[in-house]
Amino acid sequence: MVDRMDAIAIDFETANERRDSACAVGLAWIDHGRVVRRETRLIRPPELRFSPGNIRVHGILPADVRGQPNLPEAMAEFLPDLSDRLVLAHNAGFDIGVLSASLAAWGKRAPPVTYLCTVRVARQVFPHPAGCGLAKVAGRLGIRFEHHDAGEDAYACAEIALAAMRERGAASVADLPRVLKMPAVVRAGGYHPDPENLRSTAPRALGTTRNRMPSADPGLRFAIRGSTGNRYAVVLEERSTGPYLRCDCTAGLHRRRCRHVDAVVEGDVTDLVSGNFGDVERLRERLAVAGTPVEPLRVRAATERRSRAGLG
Ligand SMILES: [Zn+2]
Repeated sequence: MVDRMDAIAIDFETANERRDSACAVGLAWIDHGRVVRRETRLIRPPELRFSPGNIRVHGILPADVRGQPNLPEAMAEFLPDLSDRLVLAHNAGFDIGVLSASLAAWGKRAPPVTYLCTVRVARQVFPHPAGCGLAKVAGRLGIRFEHHDAGEDAYACAEIALAAMRERGAASVADLPRVLKMPAVVRAGGYHPDPENLRSTAPRALGTTRNRMPSADPGLRFAIRGSTGNRYAVVLEERSTGPYLRCDCTAGLHRRRCRHVDAVVEGDVTDLVSGNFGDVERLRERLAVAGTPVEPLRVRAATERRSRAGLG
């Protein structure tokens, strides 16, 4: 029996589309097969620019973080634990990227971390056609949590890892990489401005980033309300040519680019009736790596909405 906490789950919320804009962090410590500690902190990002879509996801406003510590200050007490334990995150490429980019934004070095993505764990241990988004997996496993609160999301991530541990008979969560034959990713400490994740830099060809692409769920699915009130499904598919968004509207079925796909790609969540804003961000991270420029999430004004729908 290893007498130490074996893993720690982490989740960041961001103010806008930039990886260095963390505005909240949640952490959940796992010890001897259960969650033993949970913490949540608000974080003041380098610039107080909040995208409407991000606010709709997490409900955090600039005024909430104005007097809060910056990321290096907020994380100082937790960084040693991140280095000492297996780090878990749901879509870990995103959260680890946020950590290092946000530290780098303040001129700080990221600690070395060894991490495991619980999306990948869930895909292997609890595969399901509906996908392995955090809320979906948690729902299927009966984990109750308040989605898009950083502390709650970290807790759900930890519980997913614990469920996988029990399902596969692993001795601890830290033993999951070995049991699942899914090597944890070791990331050396240092400056990680993560240029490929910051949209201010030039897009890179997909081929060069294939091994490091954000793990957007192929199968990410969005319900979009069309101009006549019909619902259309936009689904992410990974093709040999890169990510592809398929829509089941008439234009989409004829392989033409439609306004529903445009809306998701543009981050226009006005008609996103499925409400999965976080998935939109995940999709757009994936597209950004593939070389598609992405704009901040936004909600269209009523006038623009009418003209777009051809009504005004
Ligand atoms: Zn469509």
